[in-house]
Amino acid sequence: GKSQEAQMPATVPCQYRTGKTLGSGTYAIVKEAIHVETGKYFACKVINKRLMEGREHMVRNEIAVLKRVSSGHANIVTLHDYFETAHNLYLCFDLCTGGELFDRICAKGNYYEADARALVRTIFVAVQYIHDSNIVHRDLKPENLLFRTEAENADIMIADFGLSRIMEEEKLNQLTEICGTPGYMAPEIFKKTGHGKPVDVWAMGVITYFLLAGYTPFDRDSQQLEMQAIIAGDYKFEPEEYWQNVSETAKDFVRTCLTIDPAARPTAAKALEHKWLADEKPHFVLDQ
Ligand code: ADP
Ligand code: MG
Repeated sequence: GKSQEAQMPATVPCQYRTGKTLGSGTYAIVKEAIHVETGKYFACKVINKRLMEGREHMVRNEIAVLKRVSSGHANIVTLHDYFETAHNLYLCFDLCTGGELFDRICAKGNYYEADARALVRTIFVAVQYIHDSNIVHRDLKPENLLFRTEAENADIMIADFGLSRIMEEEKLNQLTEICGTPGYMAPEIFKKTGHGKPVDVWAMGVITYFLLAGYTPFDRDSQQLEMQAIIAGDYKFEPEEYWQNVSETAKDFVRTCLTIDPAARPTAAKALEHKWLADEKPHFVLDQ
């Protein structure tokens, strides 16, 4: 581990051998990596320093956040190691072999309500933990939710704290920069009125909608129209054929998370008390 820039070869850190690419985002490529000494597999997020120039603080922030939350909860990816070479920064995580929630939704078309409910509850408990640690994730979406194993009932893990922020206790809605992934961004982000933890609850509403229907609520022909729809809270539980088997309680849960006013939106703790998630047994019939 640690920073051993001087002893490291210029490109590939000697302790790990990297293999196939697992995924990629804006600044990073994530590769499977084997720790040579132990033969253990990891997921190695490789961040190109040149691409990150001027934004190195973002990686430092990601590491600081991960140190605060990643070993404290079973459904948050664990950061194992961090080091750099002349060209790259490396973040080594527990390997999630089950892929992204995004791909599972696409493969299934949509989730059965009972399965969606179980996933949403698990993710929300982890989001509550993150918020209790005074962190806002800001990029919750199915691409950043990973399955630990290939099993159908594998644990779901929150990943990608690249846009997350540590919030000061007194200032609840102190963030103003526009960031995130448009379809999952809350209205207050576009309005630049200040935002905080409620943006994660909004994103969970979009994710829940996506799980149940197989498409997202604010998908429009352009980003401009998408933004307008989000600000107006303009979405429907339509077409009917995608929603006829979904309970009113589930729709009400989505509606609650997609409350336009962040002050009126439930907190993660409150969302967990909603009867869609709180009931011990599902209150709807498994008819799909
Ligand atoms: P970015 O900030 O560039 O979006 P992410 O941390 O989201 O980077 O990683 C990009 C992609 O790499 C993820 O969407 C996922 O497909 C894959 N990935 C990230 N972390 C892991 C992991 N621990 N195990 C397996 N795949 C991962
Ligand atoms: Mg990502």
